[in-house]
Amino acid sequence: MAAKKCTAVITGGAQGIGLCLTLEFLKAGYNVAAADSDIEAGKELKVRAGDGKRLLYSPCDISSEKQVKSFIRATAGKFGGIDLLINNAGIGINKPVNALSIGEWNRVIGVNLTGAFLCVKHSAPHLEKSRGSIINIASTRALMSEKNTEAYSASKGGILAITHALAISLGPEVRVNCISPGWIEVSDWKKKRDMKAVFHTPADRAQHPAGRVGTPYDIAEAALFLASKKAGFITGQNFVIDGGMTKKMIYV
Ligand code: NAD
Repeated sequence: MAAKKCTAVITGGAQGIGLCLTLEFLKAGYNVAAADSDIEAGKELKVRAGDGKRLLYSPCDISSEKQVKSFIRATAGKFGGIDLLINNAGIGINKPVNALSIGEWNRVIGVNLTGAFLCVKHSAPHLEKSRGSIINIASTRALMSEKNTEAYSASKGGILAITHALAISLGPEVRVNCISPGWIEVSDWKKKRDMKAVFHTPADRAQHPAGRVGTPYDIAEAALFLASKKAGFITGQNFVIDGGMTKKMIYV
């Protein structure tokens, strides 16, 4: 159980891993401010979260400094401070590098990397005051690749680097860590219109040493630990949560 009145800002908190983070942190006693650009998903989140007193949702595109600044101000105003920032919102555009436009490149970097920077910039004074922490969500794609994923991989590599940079700059007041998920199934964590049934083949499961594909709960459990006092000596680190997939040597 979180200490009373802990407040978490969770970006992309209305769908996918972020939705699970929002619901699990609410369950653990946190106030949660979910910053998500998808208004339809935000409305559904409000219904799903029940009484709503400990949830703040308002639309926010994290690539816009103006929107981030006002979202953070509204969060601190409603809950009296901020103890945790989870930089989770992310997008991908997969295209051959010679077909990727500068606009597409900038959009992926703008949301995944600049968006995280903006949220840190405007939350940092509150986190320093509360001696809080930051959890960045990167990806195993920061460490390994499929074809045509340059913008996404670069943005996630940047997240790994900004994690250790921030741990040095904001410590000792603020701890900063990173989670790099592998394949996390989110088809059943979408807004109603986009919800799909989960289907995995035996091969999908077998390529994971853990014997299954990940779920958003795998990430939420780690985030709850990293946010807690139990993780007080952990900062600047990247935790790969991928069922062991990146440790599996492949010979063809
Ligand atoms: P998702 O698409 O299911 O959910 C992302 C949420 O972020 C959506 O609700 C979306 O509306 C929101 N969002 C997108 N752009 C935004 C913006 N500009 N401002 C605010 N909100 C925005 O994604 P997911 O699969 O849950 O991924 C969450 C994070 O985890 C991402 O950073 C992703 O890169 C990372 N990740 C996911 C996986 C996976 O297998 N699902 C693996 C590795 C890393």
